[in-house]
Amino acid sequence: MSDQNRWHHSPTEALKVGPGFSLADLDPDATPGWHGGEDDAVAEMARRGKDLDALQEQLFARGKEAGDTRSVLLVIQGLDTAGKDGIVTHVVGLVNPMGVKITGFGVPTEEERKHHYLWRIRNALGVFARSHYEQVLVVRVKNLVPPETWETYYDELNAFEAEVAAAGTTVVKIALVISPAEQLRRLAARLDDPSKYWKYNPKDLEVHAAWNEYQAAYQDIFDRCSPASAPWYAIPADRKWYARLAVAEILATALEGLELTWPEATFDVAAEKARIASLDPDGPAAPPVTQQPATPQPTTPKP
Ligand code: ATP
Repeated sequence: MSDQNRWHHSPTEALKVGPGFSLADLDPDATPGWHGGEDDAVAEMARRGKDLDALQEQLFARGKEAGDTRSVLLVIQGLDTAGKDGIVTHVVGLVNPMGVKITGFGVPTEEERKHHYLWRIRNALGVFARSHYEQVLVVRVKNLVPPETWETYYDELNAFEAEVAAAGTTVVKIALVISPAEQLRRLAARLDDPSKYWKYNPKDLEVHAAWNEYQAAYQDIFDRCSPASAPWYAIPADRKWYARLAVAEILATALEGLELTWPEATFDVAAEKARIASLDPDGPAAPPVTQQPATPQPTTPKP
């Protein structure tokens, strides 16, 4: 991290869920580790965004040219209005979309229901808006399967992520934590703006009503699915600018951890430079114009 920025404590450390973490003690309005205000955050976001873009391009280039099969799985979880779309737009959107696969997970389709719940997840590794964790969130809170079934999911989720990590994928799990009051404010704001009606779903109020059940389900995820190889970061998200900045920093730090380098040239750089220098900047000479004998045009008979 550069000392020009205003992180006095890296969010990778400050926000990582560790043993004894209590969701109830996290203030969604706080800005842990950040010393500045929103304006400073915007400036830092622009600076760190460039790093993120270059790091992701390096990973992409190494995948194409150096046989490097490493990758990153970014899981973005959060209740309705927590800002998942904003992270996709304002953080993931800082990098070249060519190198990113983004998937939003909704209610499983008929086709998806025919398979194990991890089927659609395995097919989509990249950036997830919602994820396999819905199996122990909405599925648990809404009693879509009995407790003895969802109880088995935690071990399955850990085993799946361990397998993914062992195959060379850096797993970064983001939980956006908002307060119930902020959720209501955001839902109400959607009803004040016709361009946001499409984002409003009357069923979102059911999620608000089940707030405590969701909090308990999130706490269990943190307690049971936080191995070192696939950590959770609990991000206070009432201030969108902070959440976005923190996720950008965590992601950039994760990519820096891969110690990426640009792929070596697979050709003689000096020889290629010499070839370019020998070429005419005006382009290749035009081919000589050869005079064609005039071909007689057929005459159209007058009517
Ligand atoms: P979001 O709030 O994620 O931006 P959205 O409101 O536009 O999304 P969709 O993306 O269509 O809606 O679907 C999200 C919904 O799908 C959420 O209510 C979520 O709980 C539900 N969902 C996701 N995964 C599952 C699952 N495995 N089983 C049941 N419901 C699920």
